Amino acid sequence: MRHVKYCEDQRMPSSRASLLLAVLSLLPAIAGAAEGAHEHGVATLQIVVDGNMLQANLEIPAHDVVGFEHAPSTPGQRAAVETALARLQEPGRVIAPTPDAGCVATTTQVEAAPGRGNDVSATAHAHADDEPSHADFRLAWTLRCAQPAALDSATTGLFTLLPELAQLRVQVIGPLGARALMLARPDSVIEFAAD
Ligand SMILES: [Zn+2]
Repeated sequence: MRHVKYCEDQRMPSSRASLLLAVLSLLPAIAGAAEGAHEHGVATLQIVVDGNMLQANLEIPAHDVVGFEHAPSTPGQRAAVETALARLQEPGRVIAPTPDAGCVATTTQVEAAPGRGNDVSATAHAHADDEPSHADFRLAWTLRCAQPAALDSATTGLFTLLPELAQLRVQVIGPLGARALMLARPDSVIEFAAD
């Protein structure tokens, strides 16, 4: 009797559990992208949909944003970093979910930029003394969506904003599945549904 009950309990499916599994299965790929060759011309955008919340994380080599990867040392370089951050944070510029979903950004965070004290990626990339260090712009958004059932795609204006950017590596995890896709200039549409 006890054994049977135990089996039944373990068999209970959970959409949250399957989402977690999907996240875990993608983690090695995400970690590899983060600490491996940060490749100039290629940015990474991770999108996680959970209930009515959409979380987006963007990582771009600073080379593709401002043309340098050291801390800004002149007023012009400092202004370039601030201007780039302001443009990246414009609502709907980096990620604009389909209007049908009624998403509104609740938070926008700058996690790293050249010269920012929390730019851990710059130190993380400097593994060997003879390797030039790299730096990334990293930003995160949280959006709340009034109609999450309609969340099946988004558009990005990154290629318009950044002339140096050639490709955007996208990872999407959500109720429609988990998928990885590569956008090439001038693609702007990110489909959330797995093929
Ligand atoms: Zn670099």
